[in-house]
Amino acid sequence: MKPSPLEARLKRRIAKDGPIGVADYMAEANTHYYATRDPLGPGGDFVTAPEVSQMFGELIGIWLADLWRRAVAPEAALYVELGPGRGTLAQDALRAMRGAGFNPPVELVETSPVLRAAQAERLSARWHDDLSTLPASGPLLVVANEFFDALPVRQFDADGRELLIDVEDGRFVRGDGVYRETSPAAVDIVRAISRRLAAQGGAALIIDYGYDRPGHGDTLQAVSRHAFADPLACPGERDLTAHVDFSVLAGAARTEGASVFGPVTQGDWLGAMGLAVRAAALAKAAPARAGEIGEARARLAAPERMGRLFKVLALVAPGWPEPAGF
Ligand code: SAH
Repeated sequence: MKPSPLEARLKRRIAKDGPIGVADYMAEANTHYYATRDPLGPGGDFVTAPEVSQMFGELIGIWLADLWRRAVAPEAALYVELGPGRGTLAQDALRAMRGAGFNPPVELVETSPVLRAAQAERLSARWHDDLSTLPASGPLLVVANEFFDALPVRQFDADGRELLIDVEDGRFVRGDGVYRETSPAAVDIVRAISRRLAAQGGAALIIDYGYDRPGHGDTLQAVSRHAFADPLACPGERDLTAHVDFSVLAGAARTEGASVFGPVTQGDWLGAMGLAVRAAALAKAAPARAGEIGEARARLAAPERMGRLFKVLALVAPGWPEPAGF
């Protein structure tokens, strides 16, 4: 197969300047990947929780509206989402929030022009390239689902040497023995969110697959057409992710003064938020869809499906009430 323009460019760069870090490779690959397609859904590369069922976004909306009501209502607050994909989660969450009397302005942090266009079909919002341009006053209610796993990671061996990607015989190769991963980009974003929460009030809900203690070695993976693929082949044509180290994100948030709740598993959190009740109500309203709704519930919450690998972490502004579900 002919190498893509990105693959050719990375290979020229390595030939000229030497091997590059895994984070560099991942950033280049994912920027191209998301800029050039909508990867979500059965016809794409992967399916996320909001695309499985409206229940996911609705329960997040209820969580946000409850916190808003107990903390600052009737004062305004902003809905902020990082990496909103097709905008499905925001659409479902906003519907639930409006049902609870809360109709916040929407601020979306999204770099992909293709996904911005998909979001604009469903939402009226303002768009940002990063957090720096978000409004500087008013509480922020931030949601990030499967956003942090797409951020670049660095990899190190047991002696603390950074592992690099080189080219041999026309293929990308990386040294063996990944012992530790870090995501400086993820830590920077969590710190920026936490500083905003301390200054403006609000909360953030971070949902992703990952672990609650460090030390898992190599978690870099590629997904294409719903199957795992080689992360060192076809950069920019496959979704590259790494598991999120929630203990590091929690620590970064605490150093900036945020209160931290969780991580708890997605199954436990959805259960505590009333997934069973919501599923029963939807099935009662549409009996012909009861089987499909039950299947979606299992997919989101059963431990062997998304229920245990996915975790939920809340960061809350100092002085704000305890959030539901933890
Ligand atoms: N949250 C959505 C989409 C997850 S896919 C869902 O659950 O369905 C990852 C999302 O993050 C995409 O919208 C992608 O374009 C966006 N994204 C990835 N890296 C980004 C970055 N560095 N800055 C802003 N958005 C990014």
